[in-house]
Amino acid sequence: MGDSKKPQKPMIYYYAMTLLFILLLNTVILPTFFSPKVNEVSYGNFLQMVDEGRISKVEITDNKIASICKDDGEDKIYVTGRVEDPQLVDRLIKSKVEFSQVIPKENSPIVNFFLNWIMPIMIFFALGQLFMRYMGNRMGGNAMTFGKSNAKIYVEAQTGKSFDDVAGQDEAKEALMELVDFLHNPDRYKAIGANMPKGALLVGPPGTGKTLLAKAVAGEAKVPFFSISGSEFIEMFVGMGAARVRDLFKQAQEKAPCIVFIDEIDAIGKKRDTGKFGGNDEREQTLNQLLSEMDGFDGSKGVVILAATNRPETLDKALLRPGRFDRRVPVELPDLKGREAILRVHAKNVKIADNIDFNALARATSGASGAELANIVNEAALRAVKMKRSYVEQADLEESIEVVIAGYQRKGAVISPEEKRVIAYHEIGHALVAAMQKNSAPVHKITIIPRTNGALGYTMQISENESVLMKKEELFNKIVTITGGRSAEEIVFGSITSGAANDIEQATKIARSMVTRLGMTEEFDMMATEIMSNVYLGGDASLQCSETTAGKIDAKVLSIIKDAHEKARQILLANREKLDVLAQFLLEKETITGEEFMALLRKEEAAESGSREQA
Ligand code: ADP
Ligand code: MG
Ligand code: ZN
Repeated sequence: MGDSKKPQKPMIYYYAMTLLFILLLNTVILPTFFSPKVNEVSYGNFLQMVDEGRISKVEITDNKIASICKDDGEDKIYVTGRVEDPQLVDRLIKSKVEFSQVIPKENSPIVNFFLNWIMPIMIFFALGQLFMRYMGNRMGGNAMTFGKSNAKIYVEAQTGKSFDDVAGQDEAKEALMELVDFLHNPDRYKAIGANMPKGALLVGPPGTGKTLLAKAVAGEAKVPFFSISGSEFIEMFVGMGAARVRDLFKQAQEKAPCIVFIDEIDAIGKKRDTGKFGGNDEREQTLNQLLSEMDGFDGSKGVVILAATNRPETLDKALLRPGRFDRRVPVELPDLKGREAILRVHAKNVKIADNIDFNALARATSGASGAELANIVNEAALRAVKMKRSYVEQADLEESIEVVIAGYQRKGAVISPEEKRVIAYHEIGHALVAAMQKNSAPVHKITIIPRTNGALGYTMQISENESVLMKKEELFNKIVTITGGRSAEEIVFGSITSGAANDIEQATKIARSMVTRLGMTEEFDMMATEIMSNVYLGGDASLQCSETTAGKIDAKVLSIIKDAHEKARQILLANREKLDVLAQFLLEKETITGEEFMALLRKEEAAESGSREQA
């Protein structure tokens, strides 16, 4: 109770209002409501009516005399104040009026008290409860439940997930397997005196299956799974988060062995900063509570804490020290094999043709996360329905990869024939430069159908196999390929367009990383001039050098891009006719495959060398 001082003030107001209302009800409203319609007369008039014989019945109470008058056969009630009048009885008898003195009908005081005070309070209390529950639901939280933290904790006896549902991520699974084993028979670990880690922190980019893995661990271990998201700890009122943490651990210890999973732990686990004025009280209290709970509980009982985050560098050091989250399990973006496995897992959930080339799909989705791959399979199923087919085909999957990468086709986009020509040359520029270089991934598809992400056309390159290392030449050739589009425009039209904005951005990014982080220039040798933060969320680079160095970096980046641009121009100038033929072909077909492109290119090359031999 003690940890929610603030909300009690409105509560007191609430009760005060209720009391006031009951008072009003009892003293003013109810009496007027229930008293019958009566006419007041003076005592003199009343006596006159008695003498005239118009009164049939009289009731005398302590301070009032009520009488029924039967004028014109219609009964009317008259009241008058009671006057000390000893002759009244004689008069009444004389006029043959039926009369009586009312004995005040007394409820027992206890019943009275109950009816007038306890009942209304109970009714209001019930109404109040209903109201609070309603408000609580509407606000999606526990804004109105004071004092006791109603921690929204999900206990799923069975998560229904197993390691089979998690494809790829073999290293992560292996690391977590140990925890599962511990939950199965903690005694074996106790016997040898080994302390199991209390917590494991899953770190990796979004959508790589961290949440899924945690559920799978619970499923494999067949233990209860307490899941709560970091943001749920942060409440409207200071102290609630800490109360929730306490509740969570209390419940977990009662249910041990079990797994406590704190998703998005960075919401509470952020570094406590001392510098700023004020700071975030609520978050810090919550974090402190979490730290002390993690220290406090006995790990050998079989409570394992899993947490997930994609911003590990923002976490407070205290969380990461041994005895708390001392295990760190990286959950990285899947590699080629992993992507194939993930696609297969999700393909099991849809009706699918049996000649699907999963390897080709995996190669086309380099850099995609598990969540994106799951999405690709679903998009393909949706497309199959749209095509009125009852199963998913390779083409559905390929199109949905493009949808996920570049968005939907913009069928209605209005593009003039002249612009179409520029776009076709631009794309063939990329493709031709790529094809003419060694160390460059083969072209898979070229299209000039615009997409909803703003691309007017694009050239898809897919490498045969995935390498973990990039050679300097490969990176440079990549920039050359990227500058190929603009180069083709320059050579063919003698002017340039705005269509290369995305290429420019990409080329600069690669060149910059070569200079600042990869140590690929003589000038800067192995000096890092930029550091990356937030690597799992796209990455932000921040400069770590003097201003003069920054100037030199820019100059070097520019010179790399210029060299690449020049190389692309030379390649295209040397293949000027092929550029025309291929661009014409693309303009007619709008979309061509890598094979079609290469076949035409080989044909042109053969024709060229033939004519050279003739000359
Ligand atoms: P995270 O918590 O890392 O952001 P999730 O675990 O929520 O990602 O993953 C989202 C969805 O993506 C999962 O429900 C699952 O369908 C799919 N997914 C992600 N990674 C994998 C994987 N390795 N194997 C199978 N499915 C995956
Ligand atoms: Mg998650
Ligand atoms: Zn381009």
